[in-house]
Amino acid sequence: MTVPAPTPLLDTFRRPLASLRVSVTDRCNMRCRYCMPEEDYVWLPRESILTYEEIARVVGVFASLGVDNVRLTGGEALLRQDLASLVAMLRRDSRLHDLALTTNGTLLAEHAERLRRAGLGRVTVSLDTLHPERLEQFSRSGRHAEIVQGIRAARRAGFEQLKINSVVIRGYNDDELADLLAFGRAEGAEVRFIEYMDVGGATQWSAEQVVSRDEIIQRLASTQGAIDPIPGDARAPATRFRLADGTIFGIIASVTAPFCWSCDRSRLTADGTWFLCLYGEQGVDLRELLRRGASDAELTTAIAEAWRARTDRGAEQRLAVAERGALYQIDGLRADPHREMHTRGG
Ligand code: SAM
Repeated sequence: MTVPAPTPLLDTFRRPLASLRVSVTDRCNMRCRYCMPEEDYVWLPRESILTYEEIARVVGVFASLGVDNVRLTGGEALLRQDLASLVAMLRRDSRLHDLALTTNGTLLAEHAERLRRAGLGRVTVSLDTLHPERLEQFSRSGRHAEIVQGIRAARRAGFEQLKINSVVIRGYNDDELADLLAFGRAEGAEVRFIEYMDVGGATQWSAEQVVSRDEIIQRLASTQGAIDPIPGDARAPATRFRLADGTIFGIIASVTAPFCWSCDRSRLTADGTWFLCLYGEQGVDLRELLRRGASDAELTTAIAEAWRARTDRGAEQRLAVAERGALYQIDGLRADPHREMHTRGG
């Protein structure tokens, strides 16, 4: 007898629940100007942070509802002790086909091997500049060399589908597009340029600093020659391109060409608040359910009901704002740290 495939759980726009980003900490050891520009932050209370057992349980419920890919993030996920043991716990769930990590890379060299052995499938490292002094100035981090070592260690540990995320900001790193691609090619990593987004945390955002996908393509074409789009999954956030020399790269055009229509992602913060959109105002408090002893059936119902009612299309709504500026000012972020990108997990 064949078992029927489970019916996908769909929201009001018929988008399935498929991807989950799990932020394991809101802490970060970098202060990138587009994400955490302030001196101090309101942190999530320590006792509210989910244990690995709680994370694994709730991810299991998500998996039963159709989530098959999970990305661990933060904050900086590698600041959380023994992340590999969470990876090992999640790896046991055969419904999760894709288990990935987004990291700033500063601590990756010491953890890559263990993460790989624990069953982590893919790693994305954020690196916006090849100039250590720019990193120092822009992200208040003197750890450029460690990030590069982290990328190399990940390759050595056997992570083959390595990616590098570079947020492109006018006047900061927009003169490094070709150099970042050359670096990615040399290191065996695919670069993905990300348009600078006006997410919570980006209090210094302005439209003028956004380098659009079209501009990135034009600027690269002027020095690198023909650039061919690679046909692929139209639902994927990154559009991929190939240079004449064969280098493949991606662009995530969340600002100028949002992909809300295909967004199957949601985000679990380190304290168990579940956001159905990066721009969403309110999250669902799953920690409260978990800690008051809710059964898996109750958790399943809460998640399924919220997803079925989902109407979010935050990036498209932002695109329609005429005088677009930062989404939140610092007071708004201090009033509720769940609005921060570093809390929601990028
Ligand atoms: N600490 C990890 C890292 O650096 O990759 C994970 C968290 S970070 C918030 C995840 C991703 O979000 C990074 O690739 C970062 O560049 C991106 N990000 C943060 N703020 C952004 C913004 N305003 N616009 C676009 N991407 C942003």
